[in-house]
Amino acid sequence: MNIYADNAATTKTSDKAIEAMVQTMKNVYGNPSSLYSLGQRAKEVLEQARMDVAKCIGADFKEIYFTSGGSEADNQAIISAAKFGLLNQKKHIISTKIEHHAVLHTLKKLEKEGFEVTLLDVPQNGIVNIEDVKNAIREDTALVTIMFANNEIGTIQPIKEIGQICKEKGVTFHTDAVQAAGHIPIDVNELNIDMLSMSAHKFHGPKGVGVLFARKKIVLTNVIEGGAQERGKRAGTENLPGIVGMAAALEEACLHMKENAEREIVLRNRLIDGLSQISHSMLNGDREKRLPGNVNYIFEGIEGESLLLLLDARGISASSGSACTSGSLDPSHVLLAIGRPHEIAHGSLRLTISAENTEEEIDYIVQQTKEVVAYLRSISPVWEKIKMK
Ligand SMILES: *Cc1c(COP(=O)(O)O)cnc(C)c1O
Repeated sequence: MNIYADNAATTKTSDKAIEAMVQTMKNVYGNPSSLYSLGQRAKEVLEQARMDVAKCIGADFKEIYFTSGGSEADNQAIISAAKFGLLNQKKHIISTKIEHHAVLHTLKKLEKEGFEVTLLDVPQNGIVNIEDVKNAIREDTALVTIMFANNEIGTIQPIKEIGQICKEKGVTFHTDAVQAAGHIPIDVNELNIDMLSMSAHKFHGPKGVGVLFARKKIVLTNVIEGGAQERGKRAGTENLPGIVGMAAALEEACLHMKENAEREIVLRNRLIDGLSQISHSMLNGDREKRLPGNVNYIFEGIEGESLLLLLDARGISASSGSACTSGSLDPSHVLLAIGRPHEIAHGSLRLTISAENTEEEIDYIVQQTKEVVAYLRSISPVWEKIKMK
């Protein structure tokens, strides 16, 4: 059996997206900046994709900037708000301890340049306290950046409420919606969002392409300098096949969002129920307020990496911690932030499913995980002690 259960790392490109990309590569290869008709045809296709993407999040097409992915969109959003804040002596930024490294590392860089960053603690359920956000805002706060849904534990943040607070206080609000886009409903106006990041490969689109949504009032700073593409805010000949593939994938994801989510929630709950039968285990993150496809478990007395490799040998692709941290021995910063002790945080397993998974696959994953955890515990030097607790 071959089961893909790592959709938070990346997703399988949909047939519709591939088809749209191939057609674009074959037929619309002109440069959108060229004035002859082949170029103008490419420009039309580009602008149609911009409108399609805008529609899926309730934005205006003039507020959509195509980027190379979620990381670039996060970088540009945060750097832009910081540079703009500086013009008004605002040097304070608020975020959380559970953000993606694309956000955290950008904030680190700004700290070295003299910005003050407040990283909010996150309670054990993995959901940011609205009051904490409110209390952290100061006169000199230039930006609040809080992710829509977490890539490791799947928890969904109270984005609308946070956006409302920022709106009332006149603070720019950015959200990294890379895990949320195409999976749960997003309307930037209803949710009071000023800037938002998305990435195609997290919703069955191609890799290396994403979106920065920025309201018209936002003054963007370039991260890539050069030509006048993307209204002068992001240079470089547009990745038209990627952009068209992304628009096709997002449209498809938004069209089938409700039924996909309902299906995933049934599978997810079946998976959680199955894994909960393993002793000395616990679910990470709120059981309800989480992405439809996300399951993240801790099994005491084992190493997540060993579990991952043994599951791979049984045909299951899963993750322990995030893709960026596997390969390093540090436990996930997200699990530490929600208060999991160091030694326990090592034993985590993230399974992120899509609507393409089946009940049989879920049952297979549960069975194999039970067996592998039992085996790893049988050779674990610490398990005997933990068992007695
Ligand atoms: C994957 C991911 C990113 C990075 O997106 P890329 O397109 O891979 O650069 C950023 N934030 C979150 C929450 C993600 O899951």
